[in-house]
Amino acid sequence: MKRHLQLSIKQLSGFYADGSISPRTVVDHSLDDAIKLKRLNAFIRLSPEKALHQAKESDHRYENKEQLGVLDGVPIAIKDNFCTKELTTTCASRMLSNFVPPFNATVCERLANAGAVLIGKTNMDQFAMGSGTVDSIFGPSKNIWSNDLVDKWHIAGGSSGGSATAVAAGICYAAIGSDTGGSTRNPAAYCGVVGLKPTYGLISRHGLIPLVNSMDVPGIFARNVGDCLDVLNAIAGPDDRDSTTIRKPFRKIDMSFNEELDLRNVRIGIPKEYHCEGLSNEVLETWMKVADLLEDSGAHVHQVSLPNTSASIFVYSILNQCEVASNMARYDGIEYGHRAEIESSTEELYANTRAEGFNTVVKTRILTGNYFLLRKNYHKYFEKALRVRRLISEDFKRVFETPKNDENIVDVLLTPTTLTDAPLYNDFVSQSNRDQCAVQDFCTQPANMAGIPAISIPIRLSKRGLPIGLQLMSKSLNEEMLLRVAGWIE
Ligand code: GLN
Repeated sequence: MKRHLQLSIKQLSGFYADGSISPRTVVDHSLDDAIKLKRLNAFIRLSPEKALHQAKESDHRYENKEQLGVLDGVPIAIKDNFCTKELTTTCASRMLSNFVPPFNATVCERLANAGAVLIGKTNMDQFAMGSGTVDSIFGPSKNIWSNDLVDKWHIAGGSSGGSATAVAAGICYAAIGSDTGGSTRNPAAYCGVVGLKPTYGLISRHGLIPLVNSMDVPGIFARNVGDCLDVLNAIAGPDDRDSTTIRKPFRKIDMSFNEELDLRNVRIGIPKEYHCEGLSNEVLETWMKVADLLEDSGAHVHQVSLPNTSASIFVYSILNQCEVASNMARYDGIEYGHRAEIESSTEELYANTRAEGFNTVVKTRILTGNYFLLRKNYHKYFEKALRVRRLISEDFKRVFETPKNDENIVDVLLTPTTLTDAPLYNDFVSQSNRDQCAVQDFCTQPANMAGIPAISIPIRLSKRGLPIGLQLMSKSLNEEMLLRVAGWIE
């Protein structure tokens, strides 16, 4: 199995520029690899015609020394919940299995403007509800680090498992996922790649099929922190088509990773609540080792408390299902997507379309969400959850933003991303999607609730030979610090 170390995006661009290799050759290899590694089930569909056309254009730009984009000729993949013009966008569901959007998501548009070459659309849990990429109508994605891909294989994590796999397998240099409660960081940790969840509103959600509007963000997968930054710089910034984007123009982050970060100016917090039930010894050991390493190298490392952490997963679940209940109402079989063959009444058309188009996970979340939103329950669940969500955000504010002279203030928090290494598929599916989310999202969803940026970086392999990742979080819009510390650890 191929898990090769490849060039960074900058090195690749250097080789393109001096003519050592052409975008067309690299893209050909990517497409070949995607086919050869089909058994990983990373892709829902490849887009060879589009990719070869884009690669030829890139060849032309390099040959004629025309203006180049920062990602010119770089093969990338996009999760199948981002709209791609004239290319099916299925959300891994029957409901959208034939949906061909008439427009591109802003993220896709910006990647194309930066010269990136789209290899294909990647596998995911249906409508991004899950943490394993096991609930897809196209079948599960398999973790490339598994020793046995036939009987005893490990999950890729989710819900953006296809994107993580495409990067981990070396098919693409970077990939786009989405992150509502951890869907970029979880598979990044399980597959041994970098996964960034940016500040809410830093990257446009226009054309990202919504799951939970108040928490969804596009996520970035890459093999190293520098590549992740190159992609972030290409796609971040305000968008008139998404009113939730941060209006302030995005100042591209310029950091040289060769320049050593002086850790003596960095304060790192270890939130004690993340030392939780179910945390494996190996992950705990890895977490403590990296904390010690940072301290030994001059950083101020100390324990902090985020007291509302244990409530977070319940609140996330309530808010998630409430927003899902309203978001899924758009799938009625009239405007787009699957339509049941029934003509007796509109109500029956809606009901049958949804019965046929959604899996049990989606249906359960719609029902539960509507229950929480019933007039008699609204205050008891939805409003209360919003209040606790604010407390969770305030926990983060307290550790990141209290006055400068307070010695408890920190620049970044260091935590596990997941509680263990990647579970075996058979073990994972023996528990329900809901039970799995409660475990899988424990460390990741608080960042979505607070809208702050977070990144998962691969650290080492477990005894079973599977990657273990750790998570860093910082205050809103402090991606620079986050990436600097991540780059140092990497
Ligand atoms: N596992 C979480 C859920 O199912 C996260 C999903 C996501 O981030 N898209 O809600």
